[in-house]
Amino acid sequence: MRKTLLITGASAGIGAATARMAAARGYNLALNYRSDHAGAEAVAEAARTAGAQVILCPGDVAEPDQITNIFAAVDAAFPRLDALVNNAGIVDMTAKVTDLTHARLRRMFDVNVIGAILVAREAVLRMQAHGHGGAIVNVSSAAARLGSANQYVDYAASKAAIDTFTKGLGDEVAAQNIRVNAIRPGLIETDIHGKGGEPDRAQRLAHMVPMKRTGSAEEVAEAILYLLSDAASYITSTTLDVTGGR
Ligand code: NAP
Repeated sequence: MRKTLLITGASAGIGAATARMAAARGYNLALNYRSDHAGAEAVAEAARTAGAQVILCPGDVAEPDQITNIFAAVDAAFPRLDALVNNAGIVDMTAKVTDLTHARLRRMFDVNVIGAILVAREAVLRMQAHGHGGAIVNVSSAAARLGSANQYVDYAASKAAIDTFTKGLGDEVAAQNIRVNAIRPGLIETDIHGKGGEPDRAQRLAHMVPMKRTGSAEEVAEAILYLLSDAASYITSTTLDVTGGR
């Protein structure tokens, strides 16, 4: 029987690569995104071709009402939710801490932290209700331990919150066979860098990576799929770096 996986931020980048790989490895999919309908449709089409049942559940994870709608769509389409990839996330323009505005900080933490926690809460409630356990992978960042000075310390701090949340939630639900882990990607080739005003950021900083190259969304997806799988059955409440050594 195919397990059901909800991926937030599945219209592009790491979320999209994870969706394609998950479909090929036997999951049915609920694909969340905020605005890129065409991107989400393309991912859904590829996943259906791989044999998955797929629904699109658009919504801004920073809006609690929209999270309610996302999970209503999941509940209506699938008998149960087995897994979550809590991936939706944003950066912002390069700025020093002295230039950060209240509005920017609110948006950063509403999407990257509060949204992720509320999405995880809804997933856990469903996994507890059906009693078959589950697996959650939160997408953090190497920024959580690097700090991202002179670039986006607010983003780094939001991801550090995800690391701590992963440990705390993982410990809370471990006895119910719900595993909660995080991955910390490094410099990965996706459009997120352009959204932060620096499309060539990953390439520009690649020389700082011990492996001397950027990573691909597929290389991150491999780590996510591993942590979701039964091969990781004794792994919970921890973080895995996918950084080429950085
Ligand atoms: P991306 O290519 O920009 O994709 C981001 C995805 O998140 C898109 O599907 C986007 O949907 C969605 N999204 C953004 N805000 C959302 C919101 N408020 N509600 C719902 N969906 C939202 O980024 P990515 O590089 O794949 O990043 C994915 C995750 O990896 C993020 O959490 C990011 O912080 C983390 N990460 C990335 C890197 C890297 O180098 N790329 C490194 C470390 C960590 P729409 O376009 O439809 O809005």
